[in-house]
Amino acid sequence: MPALRRNPTRSVRIGSVTIGSQHAIAVQSMTATHTQDVDATVAQAEALREAGADVVRVAVDSKKDAEALAEIRKQTRANLAVDLQENYRLAELVAPHVDKIRYNPGHLYHHEQEKPWQEKVAYLAGIARENDCAIRIGVNCGSVDPAKKNKYGPNDTIGPMLESAVDHCQYLDDLGYTRYCVSLKDSDPRHVVEVNRQFAARRPDVPLHLGVTEAGMPPDGIIKTRIAFEQLVSQGIGDTVRVSLTVTNDRKPEEIAAGRQILADIASGRVRSVVDYGLKSLNIISCPSCSRVENEAFIHLAQQVKEMTRYAEDHAITIAVMGCRVNGPGETDDADLGLWCGPNFVNLKRGPESLGQYPYDAILDKVRQELDRLIATGTGKA
Ligand code: SF4
Repeated sequence: MPALRRNPTRSVRIGSVTIGSQHAIAVQSMTATHTQDVDATVAQAEALREAGADVVRVAVDSKKDAEALAEIRKQTRANLAVDLQENYRLAELVAPHVDKIRYNPGHLYHHEQEKPWQEKVAYLAGIARENDCAIRIGVNCGSVDPAKKNKYGPNDTIGPMLESAVDHCQYLDDLGYTRYCVSLKDSDPRHVVEVNRQFAARRPDVPLHLGVTEAGMPPDGIIKTRIAFEQLVSQGIGDTVRVSLTVTNDRKPEEIAAGRQILADIASGRVRSVVDYGLKSLNIISCPSCSRVENEAFIHLAQQVKEMTRYAEDHAITIAVMGCRVNGPGETDDADLGLWCGPNFVNLKRGPESLGQYPYDAILDKVRQELDRLIATGTGKA
């Protein structure tokens, strides 16, 4: 698999880490301790850093939290980010202690309602500049700017998020402040994919922070997030990621491990959903396997398919090899040829159409025939 392509996003430094297309995709997480419990928060920030977190976010909701943050800063080497909630004025208290400030355009309305949002953003950019901080414009489906929501109507979830992000980027650009990234989060991975794709098409230069909110507990929470990341990262979209999992405090570093694993899997074609890497050549993908695999022969088969199909390298055809009957049948629909493995047989598909079941020792020949047919008719759709 060639190196993943990336959108030409600009570089944005967050403490000792820089995100953007010239840099590896960063992985981040967030503390879940009470921020005023300095010992616990420092311990968790350090545990995340040691697990490989590039950035650790801390929630700050009050002046007391901001005071605790000053102490936390002294005791951890993690690059720190904060979420500003409704009280955006806390920025001046927290910025001296962190490397990035996240604000939510949908929260800027709550305080000082007579002031236009532009004035508030100008204030935040000024604070960020003075304190050597990056900014994240964090748009969230659950708290979209009410003015945008009214404009688009109750059934459009994408439009208000997109316009909100694009407007805020433009305004920061107009202020001459370009050290920012954007996130567009939703609890539905399909919405995450759609809104991030549309944003990246409009602003391919702006680094994106990817995440699925309220993803839930592992393994389901990881799977949901993985599907969204697969569809985006494979298309060059995403410069930093967070996997949000419902886990106890001692297990928080699992978010980092999950993020790194997903990125490594995408880079090597181990994916659960059919992805288009934008290749003009053969695209063989296989699921990363999990406890649902019903026949270990699947692992070997995935390897054999890769080797056997090498002769077709120059053809833009996608072949998906999936390990089970739970997800295999659905997840192979978008591939030109799909194989999903049952306990004794392998099921073969051409797009959504079933071509029958074959024993493990007969499937390779059949795949070869079908592949030759696709090449001869030029019907590969990858
Ligand atoms: S296709 Fe089945 S075996 Fe493979 S990762 Fe998905 S659920 Fe697990």
